[in-house]
Amino acid sequence: MSVTYRGRFAPSPTGPLHLGSLLAAVGSYLQARAHDGQWLLRIEDIDPPRQAPGAVDRILRSLEAHGLHWDEAVWYQSRRSTAYEASLERLHHDGWLYACTCSRKQIAQVARRGVAGMIYPGTCRAAGLPLRPGLGLRLRSEGIIHFRDRLQGEIRQDLAREIGDILLRRPDGLYNYQLAVVVDDAAQNITEVVRGHDLLALTPAQIHLQRLLQLPTPEYLHLPILVDATGHKLSKQTGARALEDNQATTNLRRVLGWLGLPGMDELAGASVEELLAWAVKHWNPSRLRQSSISVSPRDTNP
Ligand code: GLU
Ligand code: ZN
Repeated sequence: MSVTYRGRFAPSPTGPLHLGSLLAAVGSYLQARAHDGQWLLRIEDIDPPRQAPGAVDRILRSLEAHGLHWDEAVWYQSRRSTAYEASLERLHHDGWLYACTCSRKQIAQVARRGVAGMIYPGTCRAAGLPLRPGLGLRLRSEGIIHFRDRLQGEIRQDLAREIGDILLRRPDGLYNYQLAVVVDDAAQNITEVVRGHDLLALTPAQIHLQRLLQLPTPEYLHLPILVDATGHKLSKQTGARALEDNQATTNLRRVLGWLGLPGMDELAGASVEELLAWAVKHWNPSRLRQSSISVSPRDTNP
């Protein structure tokens, strides 16, 4: 029996999409459609304080304007607390969680920097505090994780040395991205995750969690990301402009070029749907570049 390819795009509604997020959306879309697969949309709205009002609607409208039509109903992480809680209970039952009372400030004073932020120094690991609401919940991270990324190649990470014990539930009760993404990639039967390579360093911890929860590990393909002249990922924080939906074909042509699609000369005057249909036919992930793509402010300001 052949398994249907299922991919997804999973924006956080912290603001409107920009060219960098469009690149991840289009990359995951083309890979799914080229495999005759489904492409799902998941809104990662698990962090209300960081959410921008109206961002969800704006993201949906932008995707539609760029011809990126998704399958099935939009999946909202804000409705998934029961599933996240059940996974935490299971991890707790198996002895993988502990309560943590450290503040960010306390951690910052002693922590080493790892590949994805500070490494928790393990202060509360052996304290055996009861897991009550109001305390952070951390996952014991150990072992060496190996996996093969379809674009970035062999990845190896020593979890304890490079990442440390990650927080799965914050003291304010909000669930961490790492927990939610693992639970939902499995619940949505995602067969391949295509996203920006800024998330590559977080992937081994996701695989660790999948194994502890006995969930399947999808394939991974980490795309190049757009960076500014100082090497920072384009984001709202670094001043990336919101996508202009009335420039959709221009935006799409740019992104398709960055994704290694050949010249689009025969496509003068094409609609977004025509551009995407052509791109699905010519999609070849081996033409992707591995590293970041530096864009000038001109590129992000049509
Ligand atoms: N929400 C994440 C982001 O916007 C993407 C998560 C993922 O694709 O796993 O960067
Ligand atoms: Zn602690």
